[in-house]
Amino acid sequence: MFKKLLIANRGEICCRVIKTARKMGIPTVAVYSDADANALHVQMADEAVHIGGPAAKDSYLKAQTIIDVCNEVGADAVHPGYGFLSENAKFADLCEANNITFVGPPTSAIEAMGSKSAAKSIMEKAGVPLVPGYHGEDQSEAIIKKAADDMGYPVLLKAAAGGGGKGMRQVWSENEFAGALAAAKREAISSFGDDTMLVEKYLTQPRHVEIQVFCDKHGNGVYLFERDCSVQRRHQKVIEEAPAPGLSDDIRKAMGEAALKAAKAINYVGAGTVEFLYDVDGSFYFMEMNTRLQVEHPVTEMITGQDLVQWQLDVAAGEPLPLSQEQLKVNGHAFEARVYAEDPDNDFLPVTGQLTYLQAPLENRHVRVDTGVRRGDEVSVYYDPMIAKLIVWDEDRNKALNRLTTALADYHINGMTTNLPFLYNLASTDAFRNVELDTGFIDKHQDKIF
Ligand code: ADP
Repeated sequence: MFKKLLIANRGEICCRVIKTARKMGIPTVAVYSDADANALHVQMADEAVHIGGPAAKDSYLKAQTIIDVCNEVGADAVHPGYGFLSENAKFADLCEANNITFVGPPTSAIEAMGSKSAAKSIMEKAGVPLVPGYHGEDQSEAIIKKAADDMGYPVLLKAAAGGGGKGMRQVWSENEFAGALAAAKREAISSFGDDTMLVEKYLTQPRHVEIQVFCDKHGNGVYLFERDCSVQRRHQKVIEEAPAPGLSDDIRKAMGEAALKAAKAINYVGAGTVEFLYDVDGSFYFMEMNTRLQVEHPVTEMITGQDLVQWQLDVAAGEPLPLSQEQLKVNGHAFEARVYAEDPDNDFLPVTGQLTYLQAPLENRHVRVDTGVRRGDEVSVYYDPMIAKLIVWDEDRNKALNRLTTALADYHINGMTTNLPFLYNLASTDAFRNVELDTGFIDKHQDKIF
């Protein structure tokens, strides 16, 4: 096992990784920016090193600085968390060149999935079902528009380099096409420096169902079932759950096997997520693969009883997967709600300030709170304004949903506006209880949620 683990991240995910490392007896090193000098992740780690200014580009994104810190403190492994450098192939390469284990997939797999277009070409060859569309290299407007016209509207334009719902535009008719393409390209250039576009048939009422896969360095791979992340706002997840309600065992297995096929096609190692759109008729289509631990991994941990960070560290150290597919079982139901400092009544604008009062619900076997802040901390303008992830578990969906609403009501935050009332209202709707799920859920039920 590793001598020392550096976590190249901050906030809740850094704290989450430290907990498992501690359990496994691995000493930890945190890094921090000026804005995070007193942060929880700094306090929790065995050692902490200052790496620069508050803007991410001056600290958490400085690949070479992080490598230098590893060399100084003798860290032989880096966990990148999610976001920041987690899907940066150059950083993974740099780790390797310095004999530091990157806790993640091989560089080649990160690169293969780094472009949504290239990823779709690979999956097409591997026989994984795709959303109908065009993801070719010829980027002339006429070609992309012809693909859209041929498919029929509505279509969805997506930036190949996209993430976080950016660079995406729905197009409802032919005469909107030119304007939407120009707008999507502008957003893609400013967010990713790359305006390569693809176009897909826009499914009007799909569910977002994603499969957690895990592969080791010995050619073994398993899927740890699925998560339903259909409840979204502007293509960003709000509440996730596992397993996906109403999915038949046959479809669950077919999706799991398709996801493993996807992972094997790129010689995947470690934790990965294969995202699918799932249609009412039971068909499903590959969207993209995320080559990291996901924000919503805890719901999978709750229903499988496994520690995915421990799996990541074991696999990175060369251990075989701890369980076979047959040994993995779904137990009960879990939800995760993302608690944000944001104002639902003001277009969800991020809110900053001090958490003058913070009382999370009590943790027990039904309730888990993953957070990187405590009472008195600041939520600053520099980072994602997520305050915590509230995760609940019970033996079935109805009971778990009761746990969720109770825990949301027991979450008390003063000092700033949060999305807690919005989450509570959403989780309390009959439609959510009755599994009327699709990615348009929030729009459809806004009169009851806001
Ligand atoms: P990003 O990487 O920016 O998050 P994704 O490709 O993962 O983008 O898509 C994000 C969300 O957008 C999906 O979860 C889904 O809600 C919606 N979406 C993506 N593709 C389609 C499509 N072809 N039809 C309908 N909705 C889609």
